[in-house]
Amino acid sequence: MNWKIGLPRALFYHTYFPLWTTFFEALGGQVIVSPPTNKIILDEGIQSVVAETCLPVKIFFGHVQALCQKNLDYLFVPRLISVEKKAYICPKFMGLPDMLEASKIKHPPLIKPVINQVKTNQVNSFLCDCAAPFTTKWSKIKKAWQKAMQEQRDYEQKLVKEIKTTDLNILILGHDYNLHDHYLNLGLWEKLRRLGCTIILPSHFPQRERETHLQKFPKLVFWTYGKTQLGAVYSFMEQPGLKGVINLTSFGCGIDSFMDSLIIRRLIERQIPYLNVILDEHSGKAGLFTRLEAFVDIIRWRSDNHQDYISSYGYNVGTCQRDAGTSGSRGDCAAPLY
Ligand code: SF4
Repeated sequence: MNWKIGLPRALFYHTYFPLWTTFFEALGGQVIVSPPTNKIILDEGIQSVVAETCLPVKIFFGHVQALCQKNLDYLFVPRLISVEKKAYICPKFMGLPDMLEASKIKHPPLIKPVINQVKTNQVNSFLCDCAAPFTTKWSKIKKAWQKAMQEQRDYEQKLVKEIKTTDLNILILGHDYNLHDHYLNLGLWEKLRRLGCTIILPSHFPQRERETHLQKFPKLVFWTYGKTQLGAVYSFMEQPGLKGVINLTSFGCGIDSFMDSLIIRRLIERQIPYLNVILDEHSGKAGLFTRLEAFVDIIRWRSDNHQDYISSYGYNVGTCQRDAGTSGSRGDCAAPLY
């Protein structure tokens, strides 16, 4: 191996790391991944990008800073526009290479292919752009890509789980970089597990199943991450045992703000408790944990059909006839929604 390429452990990394690490290694490179997010990475990210951007992008810049100290030959920062037909990722993903080049960070040369599946299904051109500094031999590039795609498929397959009914099945929605960066999400998983919850993630449902259920939604969803969240909500609502939904969102994220509204409407129809956690660099564990404890208490009260329980949707569950969370109807509960 004679060249080193840096992969920031942020944003697209959390969805596609098997793909890109396998691809560059199969081309003969050494992939250097930044360490898990920590306070230094967060602080450096905050200082190197404009304040208006969302927390995941700030963290991305912190990871770039960490990699810049590693004596790299290249840094991989794709311009990710779309990874499927009729849906986009996010404008900030599209602008990442430009934001980095406009910043004061002294970085190694960028490998910045444009990935836009809305425009073309042809991967040849962006693969050639990715591999250009190392090889122009198409047979080698193609072989590396096939191997990488297989790794990615195997990884996604391993994430799919059978959903079992437990006392406290909680669906956690969020973009992969919010869900899987435990510094960013303030150890939310660990806390929920300590509270006795079973955590279900969107990736536990096969993509095809999520897409099939999403067809119940009357309009097209134009954002890939939004499709994943809404598809997971529909998929989980098909099964018994969903006790609550937590949506982990980022302050300043336009997509999250309107997807949140669409999700909550679906959950109101089924009277499923819902908590929206908005994260930014000022979020603290104490505030988050208090909210999680209150949320779990509410679900337990509700499960016990406690007479004093009034949901935030306006129902007094103690007076409802329906089987909360499984019947999917309002039964003869007379309370208004708001
Ligand atoms: S989708 Fe939202 S959280 Fe993700 S990069 Fe874009 S604005 Fe930030």
